[in-house]
Amino acid sequence: MNNKDLLERRDRLLGVGAPVFYDEPVHIVRGEDVWLYDVDGKQYLDVYNNVPNVGHCHPHVVEALQKQSATVNVHTRYLHELILEYVERLTNTHDDSLSMAFLTCSGTEANELALRMARFITGGEGIICSNATYHGNSEAVDELATLFHDFKAKSKRVKAVPYPESYRPLSDAKGEALADVYADEVKKAIDEFKEEGIGFAGILFCPIFANEGLPNIPEGYMQKAMQHVRDAGGLYIADEVQSGFARTGSHMWGYQNSGVVPDIVTMGKPMGNGYPLAGLVAGADLVNAFRKDIMYFNTFGGNPVQCAVGMAVLDVIENEKLQDNSLTTGQYVKDGLNKLKDKHDIIGDVRGHGLFIGAELVKDHVSKEGAVEESARVVNEMKERGILLSKIGVHNNILKIRPPLPFSKDNADQLLSTLDDVLAGL
Ligand code: PMP
Repeated sequence: MNNKDLLERRDRLLGVGAPVFYDEPVHIVRGEDVWLYDVDGKQYLDVYNNVPNVGHCHPHVVEALQKQSATVNVHTRYLHELILEYVERLTNTHDDSLSMAFLTCSGTEANELALRMARFITGGEGIICSNATYHGNSEAVDELATLFHDFKAKSKRVKAVPYPESYRPLSDAKGEALADVYADEVKKAIDEFKEEGIGFAGILFCPIFANEGLPNIPEGYMQKAMQHVRDAGGLYIADEVQSGFARTGSHMWGYQNSGVVPDIVTMGKPMGNGYPLAGLVAGADLVNAFRKDIMYFNTFGGNPVQCAVGMAVLDVIENEKLQDNSLTTGQYVKDGLNKLKDKHDIIGDVRGHGLFIGAELVKDHVSKEGAVEESARVVNEMKERGILLSKIGVHNNILKIRPPLPFSKDNADQLLSTLDDVLAGL
């Protein structure tokens, strides 16, 4: 079936408006390692997808999934050792204080549960999020989806604060003083909740502000902001759905580079390499207090197939040293992009962590006005030349580079030289 017929069929079956990538969408039929193949056999270098974190259809993960599905797959009201082995192994990758877990099937569910826990434990309702974020699609979590609601929170019990950034900062202050400016916004939101008689429950942030556009966070911001949160009795929920599982290169988890240990960490996307596996980790006091009063059961969450897949993903991250690769290849890509920045004025800023990199395209370096139309052209042209990437950010002008972690220096060279050509042809 050709693209036109497929799109019509999608509209008829999924509804007009079901999101799809690229002006001329790609019909993918196969994946392997960092490669995707379309229906005509054309090969694409995947520079976008973090869900197949350890590579598309990794044989070790596929084998674990097949073996466990051929053995048994039941819910967690029966005893099974695999969930305990997996949670032990998963919590061991976190700070010592985060020793217990809930397993779910999506990042949304994990965030929904985290909000529910924070509200239950504190007795408050008020949640702070950033003004350009997305944490999931349920009704409660959508209240925080400022990226899709004109950069505003959608309900009285949520307040959006400006995300911290250094490229277009809120004020002329520099370094720690700039961190204070942004942290004061958190304090202001807490005070407003108080004035409005809304109890404060906590803050939900991605520790690297991925959906916001991977800003350079002013030094000390996270410590200062979370001090305000904790002084007011709130909890810090870190959403590691995008930043987790070795993506940042320097650490397994994004928060480990921020100097603050969260009270709850939510995870998803790369956790099952494409199989629906997500969850959260939290401290024992918090989990026990919640469990004591709330019956939480998730039919698919924590089943043996999920856990077998989760274990296999962790095996591959360790065995193939993917965190190291994320760090070194990520730096190689960043260096290459900075060289392209010297050559092509349209690149205003290059930033990111490990193999999660943003290249911001601007009209000029003084106004920093987003080169929105050009960014769209670059993404579509790169696709035509066999390279899949996307865009993020408030202005929709940041090239989003977030490949499966086995991404090699050769892959990086292909990305950089193609981008060089495409930018030259703009
Ligand atoms: N948190 C973040 C930071 C995300 O980017 C997303 C999805 N893009 C989610 C949560 C929601 O995850 P899911 O789609 O698995 O519900």
